[in-house]
Amino acid sequence: MIKEKIQQLSADIFNDVVANRRHLHSHPELSFHEVETSVFVANKLEELGLEYHKMADTGLVALIKGDKPSDRVVALRADMDALPILEANDVPYKSQNPGVMHACGHDAHTSSLLGTAKILTQLKSEFGGTIKLIFQPAEEKLPGGASLMIKEGVLENPKPQAVLGQHVMPLIDAGKVGFRAGKYMASTDELYVTVRGKGGHGAQPQQNVDPVIITAHILTALQTIVSRSADPKSPSVLSFGKVIANGATNVIPNEVYLEGTFRTMDEKWRSEAHIKIKKMAEGIAEAMGGSCEFNIMRGYPFLINEEVLTAATRGHAEDYLGKENVLDLDIWMAAEDFAYYSQAADSCFYRLGTRNEARGITSSVHTPTFDVEEDAFKISTGLMAYLAVKQLGN
Ligand SMILES: [Zn+2]
Ligand SMILES: [Zn+2]
Repeated sequence: MIKEKIQQLSADIFNDVVANRRHLHSHPELSFHEVETSVFVANKLEELGLEYHKMADTGLVALIKGDKPSDRVVALRADMDALPILEANDVPYKSQNPGVMHACGHDAHTSSLLGTAKILTQLKSEFGGTIKLIFQPAEEKLPGGASLMIKEGVLENPKPQAVLGQHVMPLIDAGKVGFRAGKYMASTDELYVTVRGKGGHGAQPQQNVDPVIITAHILTALQTIVSRSADPKSPSVLSFGKVIANGATNVIPNEVYLEGTFRTMDEKWRSEAHIKIKKMAEGIAEAMGGSCEFNIMRGYPFLINEEVLTAATRGHAEDYLGKENVLDLDIWMAAEDFAYYSQAADSCFYRLGTRNEARGITSSVHTPTFDVEEDAFKISTGLMAYLAVKQLGN
């Protein structure tokens, strides 16, 4: 009964959700600068008659209370920020802010959650409990908008028993969604390293301390942290994507600069690994006559989908969409600041399919040709509304 009502309301608002998404897509703003986006969301919440309050500068929180008696609370989260990417798509809703682009689908998340809010405000007489809407800034940039919102109390007063979030996924066809119970995404730490030696003429190695050779040893040896020290049952990744040794064919530089990332899914191992990585790099540099300054910037924790909540939510998604449209996800070693909610409360982060191969919509997130199949909005709003009211016990 409530399912059919949600499906009808979801169909009614589809065009609206597309229009809101296109507006947001053409007016992207970088992390912690979601000023116009925040005003846009605030206006839409006002149109729905919802009171909101601001958090973490540009974030917004609003409550929708069902008319039936219930103390239960479910939080629904959308992120609002865009990326520093020059959009390459030639579409009517192309970014009007050159060099900034909604290339991770946060425009879709925000417009979908506004749509979900619209559905739920029209259904208040049908459910009990409170829905907390969270529109957060800065998913893409450390320390992450989620961590700031939590510090400012977004998970208190009222405290949600469950937090749900959806994220676009161009690997899954529009019309389908994906779930994974348990550990789903990785913690991420940024590594900034300077290896120092003593530069000089390339023909006189005996008078120099070559930081390039030291770096080569460090890079190779550090991989044993993953292959020999890490538990093979739990994934770890150590990658260095930037190595600058700015000498010449005949010049040994004074120093080499490196940047990398360390990802895993176990907080205890994560902290142990930091110590091992640092110690190994510094020890090798010292043994070879140089030195190494190793800085680790802690990023997001790993994301865990609470088993019971995720199983129940997956079941509700099957009710709403049909079993054939609900897929299992593999683990994914990227990071996501929804992880902070998942560490603080029972949470479920699921994927909304946005692929349409026939229309060429297949590009990965964070690329200049990323786009979403907007038909996905036929399910994104109603599904979240349904998952929320079911989770509230209706
Ligand atoms: Zn992203
Ligand atoms: Zn994202």
